[in-house]
Amino acid sequence: MDRLLTLAEADAHTASLRPLGTETVALAAALGRTLAAPISADRPFPPYRRAMMDGIAFAADTLPATGPVLFAGLHAAGDPPPGALPPGQAWEIMTGAVVPDDCDTVVPYEDLDSGRPAASFKKGQFIHDAGSDADAGAMLVAAGNSIGPVEIAIAASVGLTEAEVFRRAKVAILSTGDEAVPPDATPQPWEIRRSNGPMLEAMLTRRGSPIVFHDHAPDDPAICGRQLDEALASCDVLLICGGISKGKKDFIRGLLEERLGKPAFHGVEQRPGKPLAFWSGPPAVFALPGNPVSVLATFTRHVLPALSRLEGREFSPPRVRMNEVPTPLPKFSWLLTVATGPDGTLLARPPGNSGDFISVAGSCGIVEVPPGRPADTFDFHPFP
Ligand code: AMP
Ligand code: MG
Repeated sequence: MDRLLTLAEADAHTASLRPLGTETVALAAALGRTLAAPISADRPFPPYRRAMMDGIAFAADTLPATGPVLFAGLHAAGDPPPGALPPGQAWEIMTGAVVPDDCDTVVPYEDLDSGRPAASFKKGQFIHDAGSDADAGAMLVAAGNSIGPVEIAIAASVGLTEAEVFRRAKVAILSTGDEAVPPDATPQPWEIRRSNGPMLEAMLTRRGSPIVFHDHAPDDPAICGRQLDEALASCDVLLICGGISKGKKDFIRGLLEERLGKPAFHGVEQRPGKPLAFWSGPPAVFALPGNPVSVLATFTRHVLPALSRLEGREFSPPRVRMNEVPTPLPKFSWLLTVATGPDGTLLARPPGNSGDFISVAGSCGIVEVPPGRPADTFDFHPFP
């Protein structure tokens, strides 16, 4: 390890990552991606004066003072505008229909009283004016926004069948360690089953990352080196877990230095996850310490924002309150696992130690507790 960096110093290095590029995909496939070109209105929104209720439409000033209103006919959604309305009469009109130019008011059926509008209606009511939401040509969604269900709806409504989005980062995972056997193997008493690879794969799958390589390396530099070569050739981002600390079998830094030169950093003033190392690449490489809670915390705090940046979006963590204010560590930032609390605040779910991933079950993310001085609000990094 080198001189330990503060979190801010480490962030300055990962901030050098740039978006990978853009591509055009079918609209349905754009869900969860970042928009690379703005979506603009091809027509005013709404495109015509839209009836907002099922009921009647009329010109308020021509309505007779008493008696039931005479209906000129039915005007439904999807009908072209009707001819002129005879003075004093009303159309029966359906939600989504064009309100004819000679009408200025819609009264819903439920507000009719003995065949005429109850006295309480207001002239102009229940008409959604053409262009009142957006003018033709207006930008509806800016580039850089995440595409969720609402953005899909907006894109569809302006006639897009495809969207220009930022490329996804292709991710490779290489877990390490002679002691870690596959989940379907029976471990010897001195062995454990691998859990870091499955956890990373689950995190990446949740956020929609394509996983182009996933393997496990023994603590053997020759074999591990060949696996690293294969992984590096296939990905935009390589995630390694384990083998990056000071142990006599921690070969990862040396193997990566032979291939990529010195890391941008190796060692961060954070707990858990001090031995985190980063090469800016390409491909970008994060070597995460092997302890499962360290993998969880460093992936969430460092790798997720880096993936967002490569995919065209800057992640800014929301500020949150904790159910109980945590006591900061004197010098290190604390990447504290948390669960959602009953009242919208977050509950600390600290592990016994960074190998104890059982006690962080049910957690939903980490909060960053800065060193030294107590704080009221904290940066929150949710799991995907
Ligand atoms: P290392 O960073 O390689 O020294 O590993 C630190 C700790 O994390 C050791 O106790 C390892 O057994 C554990 N560990 C490493 N890789 C894995 C893995 N894939 N799944 C679960 N635990 C692991
Ligand atoms: Mg190891």
